[in-house]
Amino acid sequence: MSYRRRLLAERRLLPLPLTRVIPILSDNHKTGTSINLPVINCKPTRRCAAACYACVGPISWMNSIRKALIVDEALRKGEIEGLIWECRHLGDVRLNGSGDMGMVHVPSILALARACPVTVFWGFTRILDVARAINRQHDNLSLIISFDATSPDQRLPGYDGPLAFGPRRPRDKVPDDRRIIVVFPEHRVGHTMPGVPLHPKDCPATRGAERRNACGRCRRCWRPFAAMESPEGQLEPGGDAT
Ligand code: SF4
Repeated sequence: MSYRRRLLAERRLLPLPLTRVIPILSDNHKTGTSINLPVINCKPTRRCAAACYACVGPISWMNSIRKALIVDEALRKGEIEGLIWECRHLGDVRLNGSGDMGMVHVPSILALARACPVTVFWGFTRILDVARAINRQHDNLSLIISFDATSPDQRLPGYDGPLAFGPRRPRDKVPDDRRIIVVFPEHRVGHTMPGVPLHPKDCPATRGAERRNACGRCRRCWRPFAAMESPEGQLEPGGDAT
């Protein structure tokens, strides 16, 4: 499915009938569990739309799209009791396992992190205002801004937070920027695009390491501010800067 077809499918399903889903969290091969959102909130670049991971495999099936829309609606309305119940005993939860969030979701995400102090909420966004509103509010909550070679502004002036570069294609140069803590070679269902040069900050799960629960072993993106300030720009695998 292309990004455009996914977007059309989401628009066709709206408005949703009032309903709930159980569980609200989704299983994620690499990250464990995630809060999956629709792509209607996304501000994708050309690279991002072309490689959209929400358009491939089970996450792109109609029941997953419907679920993402229901979760999106619950966050917009602040209906997060079920989510708190599911998250509060977990070690970590990936935000934006698919899609992205907008400013309208921020109050619910802040409340969720406050209500689940032992759970680390982490993930990626392409929306600068969202990262600014989320970061440094709670010790257990952060978002990394993703950008790539087709992003209109690669310098993100005035933003002093963690960055992820990707999806990266063979000719894309990774900027020399201390804020970058992770690089994602473009990959599809676990297979890295041939010809993408190695980079010291490559996500290990895209470079041959076992993908299942890779984030739980690595944790670089769980504490991205600590990773950004560490001498190598990243934590040792399994390291935790808390
Ligand atoms: S760098 Fe580590 S924590 Fe970040 S996405 Fe890759 S495996 Fe997960």
